[in-house]
Amino acid sequence: MSSALDVNAIRSDFPILEREVYGKRLVYLDNAATSQKPRQVIDALVRYYETYNANIHRAVHALGEEATAAYEEAREKVARFIGAPSSESVVFTRNTTEAINLVAYAWGRANVGEGDEIILTQMEHHSNLIPWQQLAAEKGATIRYIEITPEGTLELGNLSALFSPRTKLLAMPHVSNSLGTINPVEEIVAEASKRGVTTLIDGAQAMPHMPVDVQAVGADFYAFSAHKMLGPTGVGVLYARRELLEEMAPFLGGGEMILKVTFEGATWNDLPWKFEAGTPNIADVIAFGSAIDYLDALGMDNVRRHEVEVTAYALDRLRGLDDVTLYGPDDPEQRGGVVSFNFGDLHPHDVGTILDRHGVAIRAGHHCTQPLMRCLGVTGTARASFYIYNTQDEVDVLIEGLKAARDFFK
Ligand code: PLP
Repeated sequence: MSSALDVNAIRSDFPILEREVYGKRLVYLDNAATSQKPRQVIDALVRYYETYNANIHRAVHALGEEATAAYEEAREKVARFIGAPSSESVVFTRNTTEAINLVAYAWGRANVGEGDEIILTQMEHHSNLIPWQQLAAEKGATIRYIEITPEGTLELGNLSALFSPRTKLLAMPHVSNSLGTINPVEEIVAEASKRGVTTLIDGAQAMPHMPVDVQAVGADFYAFSAHKMLGPTGVGVLYARRELLEEMAPFLGGGEMILKVTFEGATWNDLPWKFEAGTPNIADVIAFGSAIDYLDALGMDNVRRHEVEVTAYALDRLRGLDDVTLYGPDDPEQRGGVVSFNFGDLHPHDVGTILDRHGVAIRAGHHCTQPLMRCLGVTGTARASFYIYNTQDEVDVLIEGLKAARDFFK
């Protein structure tokens, strides 16, 4: 039983949790990849398509006005949820990856030059690595990495030595998708900001799981994805400080992002629409608003408490198995609901396949963090990741599945 959430009531909102896989009850432990969606979010999608489907911002008819109001209301909800000073700082993208690429193109191309430096960490998801490697290669800039400790936390002892007068950007994850580590982003952002370095936080694994106030974090940019927090796929958010968005040139050009166009040129729309070229993902943004309502009603402190409980239980049970190597901090308070492990000499894919036969969905592989896997000296890990509907009973099913995997390969 969770002390923080009424998990039975929550589970009844998620139709997919009723299904079976290979004749077994589905135990969905791949939430770091994408979360499941409650009925409320699915209903919001259906309601939009059944009753007020229309393009937004330009329509002079009732449907268009309703759709525009619902789309912009979702933006207001997001702004409130993340503690943004106003909805003008909230740009909708397709996902975290696109939000980071937006910054790499619209801010990076204008502000990073030859000989400049970018600081990242060794625990980057490829989404927060490749755009900067591309930028650095194009501009002749250099990337420096904050290393990880054997516990899977960041080595911050020599952080100041990584900065130089040429450092232009520090970008890093709030929570590691492979290790679960919660990074002290406020502290690191403050170190960067006092040196005039621009900061970007990849919040893909943080925003869904804990209270996050982007102004308290203090970063210039903060990116996350709706699909990992009960919302539909195809929606991401870039929060950015307003002054930066004002300075930046648009990322993509076309309809919606312009104010006035002549054959000679154009002027740009107000914020945030300057960064939302073309017809946006209207239905999914609106449904994301319902996901925010759902999380708001639960309370993000309760979401976090529940995940700490389930994660602590999972860590305990995994430690009870012989031959399990766990990655990331020991203390569940220092990690999100992500547990990465290897089991004896079993290949993580074999572990994942056997678990699947038991109805347990986990992820196996490099989790889009290949350089991190190299630091850990492995090609991949098995990863169980939890959310609001997961229970300790489901952790028990995971453990039974692991025992079966060990017996199968004996
Ligand atoms: N950053 C982190 C830490 C992630 O875990 C993920 C997705 O797994 C991403 C970025 C990319 O998210 P998306 O695929 O929604 O762009």
